[in-house]
This record gives sequence, C-alpha cells and structure tokens, in this order.
Amino acid sequence: MSMSEEDIEHVKCLIIGSGPAGYAAAIYAARADLKPIMYQGLQPGGQLTITNDVENYPGYPEGTKGPDMMEDFKKQSERFGTDIRYGMATAVDFSGGNGQKHTVTIDGNKKVTADSIIVSTGASAKWLGLESEQRLNGFGVSACAVCDGFFYKGQDVAIVGGGDTAAEEATYLSKICNKVYMIVRRDELRASHVMQKRVLEAKNIEVLWNHQTVEVLGEQGVDGVRVLNNVTQEERDLKVTGFFVAIGHKPNTDIFKGVLDMDKTGYLIVQPGSTRTNVKGVFAAGDAADRVYRQAVTAAGTGCMAALDAERYLTTEGLH
Ligand code: NAP
Repeated sequence: MSMSEEDIEHVKCLIIGSGPAGYAAAIYAARADLKPIMYQGLQPGGQLTITNDVENYPGYPEGTKGPDMMEDFKKQSERFGTDIRYGMATAVDFSGGNGQKHTVTIDGNKKVTADSIIVSTGASAKWLGLESEQRLNGFGVSACAVCDGFFYKGQDVAIVGGGDTAAEEATYLSKICNKVYMIVRRDELRASHVMQKRVLEAKNIEVLWNHQTVEVLGEQGVDGVRVLNNVTQEERDLKVTGFFVAIGHKPNTDIFKGVLDMDKTGYLIVQPGSTRTNVKGVFAAGDAADRVYRQAVTAAGTGCMAALDAERYLTTEGLH
C-alpha cells in the first residue's frame, strides 16, 4: 500500500532527541504555541540517564540524580503540551529545498513532515566494551571527569585514553584527586603538545604506557582496575575508586550525512551565534553540534536558542 500525502502527519516543529537540549527546546517551543512533537530516540533522556549524581546543574542546590532531572525536564515540557513519543528518526529528506517542508522517517516506516526541525540527537561516549565497565557505569565508572571528578576528591583514580580529552580530564582530575593513573595503549599520547606537557609535568599523574584495561574491579562500586602491560604481558591491579573513560565521543548524526554540514568527526556545524544549520528551517542544539563544552547546561542553553530561532523562522516565513 503506498502512502498518500494525507496519511503523512504534518507538524510545525519537530524535535529529534530527548536530552537537555531537546527538552529545553520543547519547553520554549510549546510555550510559543508551536505545538512541538518530540521523538525521544534510542535512549530517552539521553546521556544524563546513565549519570548518577548531578551537582553542577544550576538550580539544584543539593544536587540531583541524572534520571530524576531528565524526568523533571520531561514533565516540564509535557506541562506546556509537548507531544512526546517513543521512536527513533531513521532517515531525513530535506530535498524539498530551503523553506519547504522537511520529511523525517521514524523507525523506518512512519513519515512526518515539519515546517521546522530541531536536531538534538546528542552524542554518545565511546566505551571500552568490558562487562564490568557497563555494570559499574554510574557507580565509579564515568565518561565525564568534569561531571563526576568531584566525587573522588582526595582519592586515587584511573583514566583511560591518550587524546586531548583524556589529557585535559587527567589534568582536571589531578587538581582534585590524590593520584591519577593514565592508562595509554601505545607508547605515546595522541594529545597536542601543550596538553601532553601538562600531563607529564603534573606530579600526581602517572602515565602507564603500553597498558590496556582488562577489568574494572568491584561489586557495588569501583575498588580497582586490572591492567595489562601489552609489551611485557604483565598484569597488575591498581587500587582506585574511580575509573574514567576518555577515548572519544561520537555525535549521533549519521542520518544527516551528506545533508547537514558537519565537521570530519560528525559534529553539526551551525552559523556562529545561532543554531541555524545550512538547511533553512533546520536547527541544531546540544552535543550533536558541540564538540567543546558538552555540558547539560550548555545543551539546555542551545536548546532554548533553537526554539527561539525556529519560532522566528516560522514567523518570518509566514508559517506561524
Ligand atoms: P581522540 O583524539 O580520538 O583520542 C582518543 C584516544 O583514546 C586516543 O589516545 C586513542 O588511542 C584512545 N583510544 C581509543 N580507543 C581506545 C580503546 N579501545 N582502548 C584504549 N584507548 C583507546 O578523542 P578525544 O581525545 O576525545 O578528542 C576528540 C577531538 O576533540 C580531537 O580532535 C581533539 O583534539 C579535540 N579536543 C580538543 C581539546 C582541546 O583542544 N582543548 C579538548 C578535547 C578534545 P590511540 O592514540 O592509540 O588511537
């Protein structure tokens, strides 16, 4: 059965992704009467749902839990009428041209057309892929030193990775923690020279060259990490209470390849000072378009910007 034009649902504002950027956009768009529809994606609530404590989001003086915070974001956007749905955007067709309706395919079959689209699909941290790493995620295992480093104040921690992120996070942790082991799989760092220098000059960072992680140790929380020297094949256990993984992030932008401008690692490119992409009516917010800050509060900020940009666009085009 072929789908006729009438079978396709049309919306003024479609939000793809349900992290802080998507929900902030939804709150603003709903209050501006854009009647937004949000598709939540594979991981409703986004990366914060795999974080335990959140202490750096303004407005929560006692801190909160990542999943609770995202539930609050969701309730707040529902309160103003956002239509929140399960479903994953699997393809887009923006070929109608600038200023025309855009089409998004949900879960491979349902099609939705939209006058404006807010892309807030986020990014995913890369993980080593160990069972113990997954099991202890949020309980001593973290992919964000800036978010979670404070919990390990005065303690010994380990971080894996040798790029700029790992170097930057190791340096950040070295100022809070007693000792930082940096687990590097080769005999050199990929990080830039200036970042390498900071790592190598920090007195309490010990770089373990040619090492890989065998297992994260602990039942309820982390109490150590087993590492292997891949030259000598010797194993040893590091006594640490925190284990940070910093081997890169991947923006969730595969479906926009060849359609939206992105840098070589897939982060969407927006016009400076705005959330406008290269396609009129399509706006990008949050980690999908942010390789630098990647914080919940910055994502929420750009989500707000995207809704305001969409509202102005629709008004200018006579669509709202
Ligand atoms: P990255 O440059 O891709 O580095 C990833 C690091 O993790 C590499 O050292 C890599 O080792 C290691 N790695 C990857 N998979 C691994 C595995 N399975 N086991 C163990 N180690 C593994 O990622 P990034 O550090 O997140 O940086 C991403 C981009 O953002 C880069 O272009 C970076 O320059 C930029 N950035 C810049 C700044 C800054 O300028 N302040 C800060 C952060 C990030 P190998 O080297 O052996 O491949």
